Amino acid sequence: MPELPEVETIRRQLAPHLEGRRIERAEVLDARWSEPAAPAELADAIEGRDVLAVGRRGKYFDVELDGEVHLIMHLRMTGNLLLIPPDDVRENPYVRVRFELDDGSTVLFADPRRFGTGLALLGDAARDEYFSSRLGVEPLSPDFTPAALQALAKGRRSPVKAFLLSQERIAGVGNIYADEALFRARIHPLRPVGTLRRQQIEALHAAVVESLEAGIDARGASIDDFRHTDGARGSFQDRFLVHRCEGEPCPRCGTTIVKLRAAGRGTYICPKCQPKPRS
Ligand SMILES: [Zn+2]
Repeated sequence: MPELPEVETIRRQLAPHLEGRRIERAEVLDARWSEPAAPAELADAIEGRDVLAVGRRGKYFDVELDGEVHLIMHLRMTGNLLLIPPDDVRENPYVRVRFELDDGSTVLFADPRRFGTGLALLGDAARDEYFSSRLGVEPLSPDFTPAALQALAKGRRSPVKAFLLSQERIAGVGNIYADEALFRARIHPLRPVGTLRRQQIEALHAAVVESLEAGIDARGASIDDFRHTDGARGSFQDRFLVHRCEGEPCPRCGTTIVKLRAAGRGTYICPKCQPKPRS
């Protein structure tokens, strides 16, 4: 499932092709994508508009169009945005939406499992409200500081992994980057977040930022369906420290990495570097 680094990778690939172009036509082939809006309603809101900027908030794309219209998209489990050059007749069996641009190129939203979504928001205020009601601090922004993390964690008994996965606290971190960050910070995923000491909060803050930046540097992780706009794979899966490394030696101490369950997700740790909390 794409997380912040995967979405940011696609944003960086799309932006130079989309910004300054006009969306001539939007064809929503799967009505579930735009629910509760009808496909024609969504198309009407965005067709004929210029793309001013391709933005991102957490795991959401925010395609800013003229007239303060925002096309908000989420890839969910298996969504991909593919950029098809003019005169390229490639087809994709999982296309749910086609955006035709004024230079003859096409952007396809392909999505085998069909959980991805799109909607149009009218006005910057509507966009701001949509995000602020769903998403917490943006972890690669200046707002994400050790003090901000400390304030979010204070008094909370939830396990630190579940805390990292909750989008309304920190936006964009998912299963891969939570595991990688907790390993870097030497924190067990089941440790209640409110019990972390000041140094651990500082280590976790740095580890979240470093893990996300490493993922962006590697242009995302392609462990399942994630692909770049040209169909290529990311390479972060080759640089995982612990995620999906069960049975392999810890890159720091050599202890065998184990898999456990935390926050309902398969979770990978080094049992020596990330000691179990005393209950
Ligand atoms: Zn270790």
